[in-house]
Formats: sequence, C-alpha cells, structure tokens
Amino acid sequence: LLGRLPVVTTQTERSLVLVKPDGFARGLSGEVLRRIEAKGYTLAALAVTTPTREQLAEHYAEHEGKPFYEPLVEFMSSGPVTAVVIEGNRCIEGFRALAGATDPTAALPGTIRGDLGRDWGKKVQENIVHGSDSPESAAREIAIWFPNL
Ligand code: UDP
Repeated sequence: LLGRLPVVTTQTERSLVLVKPDGFARGLSGEVLRRIEAKGYTLAALAVTTPTREQLAEHYAEHEGKPFYEPLVEFMSSGPVTAVVIEGNRCIEGFRALAGATDPTAALPGTIRGDLGRDWGKKVQENIVHGSDSPESAAREIAIWFPNL
C-alpha cells in the first residue's frame, strides 16, 4: 500500500509569491493572502516594495530576450508589489495550483487568476500573481526579494 501512495514529502518548503502591480493596484493583496492562509500555508516574510529594473532582470533572467521580456519588466516596475515568502509542505506546487494557468482567460475558475484575472489587451499578461516554479527557483528568488532572510 505504501508504495502506491502519491509522492509526498515531509520537507517544509518555501516559495516566493508576488502580488504583481495589477493585483496590488486592485487591492487584491489581502485576497491572495487569504487564499494562501486558507490553504494552510504560513507566511514567513512579507513586504511592500516597488521593484527595480535590476531586481527584475535577476528575477526574470530566464526570460531575457523573449518578446514579452521588456513589457514584462516595464509592467513589473510600474508600481508596488506585495512580496511574500510562504511556507509549508509542497507549497511550491500548491501555490501554483492556487494561482492557475499563466493566461488568466484560460485559468480555471477557482484559481486566483481564473477568478480574479482577465485579458486586458496589453502587451503582457497581467495575471495578478507570481509563484516560484521549483525549489531551485524559490531559493534564488527569495534571495533577490528578501536578502536578509
Ligand atoms: N508572460 C507573458 N507572455 C507570455 C509568457 C509570460 O506576458 O507569453 C508573462 C506573464 O506575466 C507571466 C510571466 O511573464 O506570469 C512569467 O512567465 P512564466 O512562463 O514564468 O509564467 P508563470 O510561471 O508566471 O505562470
């Protein structure tokens, strides 16, 4: 029986979550935090900050050169974000499930992007939240946004 259980880990993970400038401006930080806490993850760090282009170049290094890169950096540096480190077993995968698909029009209802997001006809997908996609990304991103953590 044990061999057939889904893969689980007792390793507590951390993930870097950002409420992006669109979500912040719409007053959705509290709603995002509510969903994170309702899911059972805990908050390990929280800050409101307007990202610099330097920070974003590090954060989005993997996307440099792609057509959406410049508009993405422009959008992400346009105003404050709420930066959060969340904690819990498998919270990296868990938060990405809460967030939903990258395209908010296609994101399933029940998810943050599916319930609260839409296509605004802009050059970049304004999709309310960012969440780390792997333990390696999480460690790298947490160091960018919370160097003292
Ligand atoms: N993005 C975009 N167009 C694309 C792909 C990505 O505007 O074709 C933006 C979008 O805001 C997304 C971010 O770039 O959230 C980072 O892309 P990624 O593929 O990492 O998506 P995520 O992990 O945020 O779902």
